[in-house]
Amino acid sequence: MFLAGKTAVITGSNSGIGLGVARQLAKAGADIVINSFTDRPEDHALASELGREFGVSARYIAADMAQGAACRGLIAEVGVCDILVNNAGIQHVAPIEAFAPEKWDAVLAINLSSAFHTTAVALPMMRQAGWGRVINIASAHGLTASPFKSAYVAAKHGIVGLTKTAALETAGQQITVNAICPGYVLTPLVEAQIPDQMQTHGMDRDTVVREVMLARQPSREFATTDQIGGTAVFLCSDHAAQITGTTISVDGGWTAL
Ligand code: NAD
Repeated sequence: MFLAGKTAVITGSNSGIGLGVARQLAKAGADIVINSFTDRPEDHALASELGREFGVSARYIAADMAQGAACRGLIAEVGVCDILVNNAGIQHVAPIEAFAPEKWDAVLAINLSSAFHTTAVALPMMRQAGWGRVINIASAHGLTASPFKSAYVAAKHGIVGLTKTAALETAGQQITVNAICPGYVLTPLVEAQIPDQMQTHGMDRDTVVREVMLARQPSREFATTDQIGGTAVFLCSDHAAQITGTTISVDGGWTAL
């Protein structure tokens, strides 16, 4: 429970990796704020369940990470932010010439600009507290590219650059800024890509998962949301106090190829 007394805000955390990170941070004792753009009773119930399960304070705040003002408003509403996990993300797959401009804008806004806005409001709070951790959920696509994912790859490379810049601006202030670069993790975002991939490659589900989606992941195993959460907990620990401005891959060897 070494994070007792710390408050963690995790964007895009009512499912998938964000929820896995929220669970692991709560397990380590942090009070948590989970988020998405919806405002349904089940979103608030999810926060209550997490609070009960781990004996921490947990709340859900609806805010659309596609809107800069809403990103800033989320952190301002919480009022304290010791740990910021920029996780909200969407994917869109199309060749560049057919890539809808509004999809490009949405991917860049949610996967990259949101982190700029939340970080801008959170850093003064971290400086005030004399401690802070910013953890950006990038991707193996922050380090390498794939065809048809231009906006996603651009946004993820961008967030790696933002990570390095924010680390330099906070160095020596007991604040670290790092990016976790997962390979394929089985979540709704990945599930949603499977039908597209099946259609593009003319393959059944199992074949497309093994031969296409995990083709670049030498372990041929999906990473788990708990493993990403555990990496985030490590980055919050004293052992990681001198790790800043860098990326940690959790990708079954993808970026070693
Ligand atoms: P997911 O679809 O399960 O979760 C995405 C989360 O973001 C959801 O909680 C969703 O509600 C939220 N979200 C989407 N649009 C939002 C918006 N406008 N405002 C607020 N919240 C919004 O997907 P995931 O796989 O858990 O992805 C989480 C992050 O991990 C993303 O940044 C993604 O790029 C990254 N990632 C995922 C994988 C993977 O294999 N799943 C690999 C590398 C990186």
